[in-house]
Amino acid sequence: MIRTCILYRLSLPLKIPMRTAHGDVREKQAILVQLVDCDGIEGWAECVALPEPTYTEECTDTAWTVLVHHLVPRLARWVRSLGRDIDPQHVYESFRDVRGNAMSVAALEMALWDWYAARTNQPLAKLLGAARDRVEVGATIGIMDSDDALIQSVDAAVEQGFRRIKLKIAPGRDRDMIEAVRRRYPDLPMAVDANGSYAQTDAPLLQALDAYHLQFIEQPFPDDDWFDLAELQASLQTPLCLDESVRSAREVKLAVRLGAGRVLNLKAGRLGGFGRLLRVLRASTLAGMSAWVGGMYETGVGRAHGLIAAALPGMRYPTDLGPADRYFEEDVLREPISFAEPGTIRVPDWAGLSDHVDRDAVERFCTATWKASFADF
Ligand SMILES: [Mg+2]
Repeated sequence: MIRTCILYRLSLPLKIPMRTAHGDVREKQAILVQLVDCDGIEGWAECVALPEPTYTEECTDTAWTVLVHHLVPRLARWVRSLGRDIDPQHVYESFRDVRGNAMSVAALEMALWDWYAARTNQPLAKLLGAARDRVEVGATIGIMDSDDALIQSVDAAVEQGFRRIKLKIAPGRDRDMIEAVRRRYPDLPMAVDANGSYAQTDAPLLQALDAYHLQFIEQPFPDDDWFDLAELQASLQTPLCLDESVRSAREVKLAVRLGAGRVLNLKAGRLGGFGRLLRVLRASTLAGMSAWVGGMYETGVGRAHGLIAAALPGMRYPTDLGPADRYFEEDVLREPISFAEPGTIRVPDWAGLSDHVDRDAVERFCTATWKASFADF
């Protein structure tokens, strides 16, 4: 029986601030969840909410509040009602009446899966059905002030062996910049991500990007701009990739019916956990869409879980989840996630993360903790 939940609020400096259409991310704020059962077996996971509510409506502050006041109490009551017989496949029962807050729900759901892997001594990757022991990795490059700086970053990523380059774009930093990279690297697998920063009136500019044979154009319009996304996709050869737009299998259906995109960027954090990611992946595979796993600048805990998701059958393109040293001087895993060979990372085959979390590092980066005994709910 799980007895305790501890939340750690962390702040890790990023080596290089990442600029997207949403603004700059200078430090990684994360919430780590640790579940502990009566035998001392642990489950770990990361809430991927960003410091500002700019990606979805969730942010670190709201996630902390929702976890403390609403989700952990529900999980505790559910666990207590079950006794010893806890199956993570059914954990959504405990959050049935909760609307939204997918990143906060995901943190608990994934911690429960992580605990279950440790409890049953099975690799989490195997429990979830991962099909590969290593995955290909692409590099995401933030918006740079100058094309020279951008080219330098692309050169470095190509040199390091990344299998795809994804450029963040926003109005004013798009076509010329893409052209400069394409001219230098005519055959490089390349994609762009606008984080919803364009409007329907920008359609001609986005149509012109067909000339650069991109793997996809990610989230050109805001998440709920379905009809404009569909109209744009109909006028493009390049597939549109949906990230912020897709929160459940329902939006996959919507995307297919409307023809609003052909590729999905799936993140267990955004979707509400592994169970919901598997559901969305099934729906998108059946619909003939291509899927892959994006990143949220995760610490090692979220990174390890994301790599497992990236190894599921049906994930087609390289993941954005690169080696930890691309982002952090120091991470929270004993052995940081790194390349197995240039451009690929070994999928963690661990029975949960608890033996791999560096407790001293967690303490060092920790700015707040909260501990709850399940007996109190
Ligand atoms: Mg994106």
